[in-house]
Amino acid sequence: MEWTPSPDRYNKMIYNHCGKSGLKLPALSLGLWHNFGEDADHSNKKAICRQAFDLGITHFDLANNYGPPPGSAETAFGRILKEDFSNLRDELVISSKAGYSMWPGPYGEWGSRKYLISSCDQSLKRMGLDYVDIFYSHRFDPNTPLEETMMALDHIVRSGRALYVGISSYNSQRTLEAMAILKELKTPFIIHQPSYSMLNRWIEEDGLVDTLEDAGIGSIVFSPLAQGMLTNKYLKEVPEGSRVTQNSSLKPEFLNEKNLNNIRSLNAVAAQRGQTLAQMAIAWVLRNGRITSALIGASRPEQVVDCAKAIDNLSFTADELAQIDQYAVD
Ligand code: NDP
Repeated sequence: MEWTPSPDRYNKMIYNHCGKSGLKLPALSLGLWHNFGEDADHSNKKAICRQAFDLGITHFDLANNYGPPPGSAETAFGRILKEDFSNLRDELVISSKAGYSMWPGPYGEWGSRKYLISSCDQSLKRMGLDYVDIFYSHRFDPNTPLEETMMALDHIVRSGRALYVGISSYNSQRTLEAMAILKELKTPFIIHQPSYSMLNRWIEEDGLVDTLEDAGIGSIVFSPLAQGMLTNKYLKEVPEGSRVTQNSSLKPEFLNEKNLNNIRSLNAVAAQRGQTLAQMAIAWVLRNGRITSALIGASRPEQVVDCAKAIDNLSFTADELAQIDQYAVD
């Protein structure tokens, strides 16, 4: 059946400028790392994307290797674009990345010009797109000159394959180095994608947040829910089909009794604020306006609905922040 997006989709979402650039991103963005592989049901993938867009979530984040198998999330998203969003391309911000292992041999990972450009072409083909809005170097490559990686990003923009470029998980020092090269090239480098959550604050300790703010570069933070740990889902039991049961990136040992007790205490702080724990975790990363967008994942449309309500209350009292600091420990 043909789908018509909600006419109210732009009424509530907050849109933040991505650093000093002209591009605005929704305060919440949706990532397709998990739940969009060949092992997942297509109608559920569609329902998640439709729900996100109906709530004003205009930004969808992918990478070459998302699946399983690698590439299949982009293929699935290409099908969804064709089926549901074919006349909505100009309302969407779509990103992809290259950096992790994608195909066999010496040219299928890291940061060479050879790999980045061919991987970008493969991503465009899988998604059926002429261009992506943002293309990222997914990780710093210690064995390729940074200049080569940055010049490949610059070429990707100048050849029309992407509108803007970003880097992901580079530390503050590497970011400064990348920025200097891209500035000289006049490449539209507007965004950094690091991990960040109440349980993972490396970007504060490393100085990356300050670096980005000083330079006017935007930030979209991945895994703000610590892959589901900062939600109510594991408080009582481990639900069937949840990420921790899938032998993947969320290790069962993270859910030890000490961490669970802290998460239960955080859940109580969220309840005092009239939020679910997921909502508070998202509000927390957005709390001081320094982060452009919280990049969530979802296995069901209802989770997107729950998460999107985070924007109803983004401010915290000093007492709430102190309580969170007490319980939110790695
Ligand atoms: P989150 O921390 O948001 O975790 C998402 C998971 O949390 C969901 O799959 C779901 O788990 C659970 N969840 C979400 N909402 C709710 C809710 N309201 N109630 C209960 N449970 C909920 O982010 P991800 O780790 O998925 O990462 C998000 C995106 O970030 C990725 O898709 C990707 O685009 C990007 N990313 C980038 C990386 C990089 O190197 N640049 C690395 C990792 C991610 P369940 O599936 O168990 O239901």
